[in-house]
Amino acid sequence: MSTIRVTVWNEFLHEARHEAIRAIYPEGIHGCIAGFLNAQEGITAGTATLREEQHGLTQEVLDNTDVLLWWGHMAHHEVSDEVVDRVYGRVMAGMGLVVLHSGHASKIFRKLCGTDSDALRWREANEKEILWVINPSHPIVQGLPEQFSLPHEEMYGEPFVIPKPEEIVFISWFEGGEVFRSGVTYKRGLGKVFYFRPGHETFPTFHDKNIQRVIINAVRWAQAPKEMPRVRLGENPDPLMPIRDMQENTLGKLGGYDAP
Ligand code: ZN
Repeated sequence: MSTIRVTVWNEFLHEARHEAIRAIYPEGIHGCIAGFLNAQEGITAGTATLREEQHGLTQEVLDNTDVLLWWGHMAHHEVSDEVVDRVYGRVMAGMGLVVLHSGHASKIFRKLCGTDSDALRWREANEKEILWVINPSHPIVQGLPEQFSLPHEEMYGEPFVIPKPEEIVFISWFEGGEVFRSGVTYKRGLGKVFYFRPGHETFPTFHDKNIQRVIINAVRWAQAPKEMPRVRLGENPDPLMPIRDMQENTLGKLGGYDAP
């Protein structure tokens, strides 16, 4: 089994500014997630954060990343468009992307989905969340019970304004009455994308064993096949074999217009 190379990206601002959050995540949310991923056989996880040069996401880092995890909240606007385009390009080429919690409003998720940052309703009231598995045969839920709960979380409520998901894996119920599609998948280009809702920074959500199981499964699910055929896009190729009655386009280039 070849190793899955993961990069965990975190904004890493809340932990630096608030003692209470630092107490929950002394090594940052990224350090916590990379820690439990690195304890898994066949996964090696590094980290990158907003304040690093190029947010830690150079072309070299991304070229050596099979699956990227993304946690951001207060500084989505500080992420450079150049880096977002670079991440987008890697997803198109097959890199997996797991977007966590308030990452729904990140530039990269919005670019991939065509959605707005205010795509849902939310409330911070320390309420209970129950996550229901609604797609039991999906690889992301293997090893989980049919439902599990988090004693305290931020509420996200429908309507969640996203494109129709390829698959809905979880639906959450909140103590205050709302429901939410809390685990959804997409295919974008050659890449697989999973959005997973829990993970508000003031709660120890990423220490929860069921949440860790979901993220570990999602990493394994999102990686591209190692021996994917090399695809050539954006070409106007000559035919593989002679075409009967082939005619040159009157404007010149065989089969169409020259690229602008
Ligand atoms: Zn939050």
